[in-house]
Amino acid sequence: MITFYPGPSKVYPQVEDYLHEAFESGLISKNHRSEPFMRMLEETIRNLKSKLAVPDDYEVYFTSSATECWEIIAQSVIRDSSLHIFNGAFGEKWKEYTQNITGKAKSYAYDPEQLPDFSEITVSSPDEVICLTHNETSNGTAIPASFLNKLRSQVQNVIAIDATSSMAGVEMPWESADIWYASVQKCFGLPAGMGVMIVSPRAITQAEQVGERSHYNSLLFIRDNFLKNQTPYTPNTLAIYLLGKVMKQVAPIKEVSSHTGLRAADWYSFLKENNYQLLIENEAVRSETVVAVYAEKDRASYLKKAAKQAGITLGNGYGKDKETSFRIANFPAIDDKEISILKDFLIREASKTANE
Ligand SMILES: *Cc1c(COP(=O)(O)O)cnc(C)c1O
Repeated sequence: MITFYPGPSKVYPQVEDYLHEAFESGLISKNHRSEPFMRMLEETIRNLKSKLAVPDDYEVYFTSSATECWEIIAQSVIRDSSLHIFNGAFGEKWKEYTQNITGKAKSYAYDPEQLPDFSEITVSSPDEVICLTHNETSNGTAIPASFLNKLRSQVQNVIAIDATSSMAGVEMPWESADIWYASVQKCFGLPAGMGVMIVSPRAITQAEQVGERSHYNSLLFIRDNFLKNQTPYTPNTLAIYLLGKVMKQVAPIKEVSSHTGLRAADWYSFLKENNYQLLIENEAVRSETVVAVYAEKDRASYLKKAAKQAGITLGNGYGKDKETSFRIANFPAIDDKEISILKDFLIREASKTANE
C-alpha cells in the first residue's frame, strides 16, 4: 500500500533503520535529565535549525502535537485578544479552541480563492496576536511569503502561524512571523506523535509580559527546560531521536523546497491535462504540499475506493469539502515511483470516464 494521505503520511524509508539504531543505542531507555539525552536533544535542534534555515535567535521546542500549540499560544502568549485569519477547517478550529480558553478570539474568515484583504486586518491593540494558517490542509490553499512579508512590515504584533502541513516541505519566511509550529507526521516524513514549535525573541518577550506559569505546558516553563536541553515532562524520546536523524539526512530546505515546487507544478498541470478539476481555481493561493481535487460525491468516493483496490491511499476530503474532494499529499518523503503509480491510476480512471 502506498499512501498520499496528508498526515499521518508516508514515513521516510530510512526510519526503519533509525528505529533499529535507536533501540541499539540504548538512548530510548535513558532518563530525560541524563547527559546522553540532553546531548541528543541539543543535536536534534541544531540539525533542525541548520537544515530548515531557522534564524539563530529563534528557539525550538518540542510539544506533543500541533493541536497542543493552539493551547499553549492561547494560554501563554495571548494576553488579551487574538485575530484569527482563516479560510478553512484547521484555522477555524484553532480559533474555536482559543475562544474557549480566552473568550476574546476575533475571526476574519476569507474566501479560499483569495488572499486575505489587508484592509480587513485591523488589530485592536499592539498585543493582539495575529493567527494565520500557512497551509490550510483541508482545502489545499497556502499563504505566499510575499503576503507574510508585507504583513510583517505593517504590524508590530506577535504573528503566530500554523505551518503543520508545510514546515520542512517548503521554505518559510521565518523572520516574518514569531511563532511557527507543525507536527512531525506531515512534511517531516516521521511517525505521528510530536509537535515542533519555533519562536522568535518578540514572542518570548510577549510571553514574559504575560508571565503565565500555571500549566505544565506554559510556554515559559517549556522554555526554561529547553534552555537546559531538557523538557518539562518525560518526552517522546524516540520521536526526538528520529527527528534528529531525519534532519541530518534531508537536503537543506532550499533544495527540498524547489523540489516540492516543481512536483506541485507538475501535479497541477497533470491533473488539468487529465480532466480532473482542482478544488482551488486561483493558482496564486494553491498549496504546494497538499493538492486538493474536486469531484462529485459519488465520483470522489468511487475514486478513493478504486485507488485502495490498486494499493493506493488517497487523502479524504476534510471539513466542508469532505465528500466532494480528495487530497494528494506532496510531501518530500514520497518518491517518484509512487507518484508515477498514482498518475497511471488517475490516467486509467480518466480514460474510463471518457469512454463511457
Ligand atoms: C494536521 C494539522 C493540525 C493538527 O495536527 P496534530 O498533530 O493532529 O495536532 C493542525 N493544523 C493543520 C493545518 C494541520 O494540517
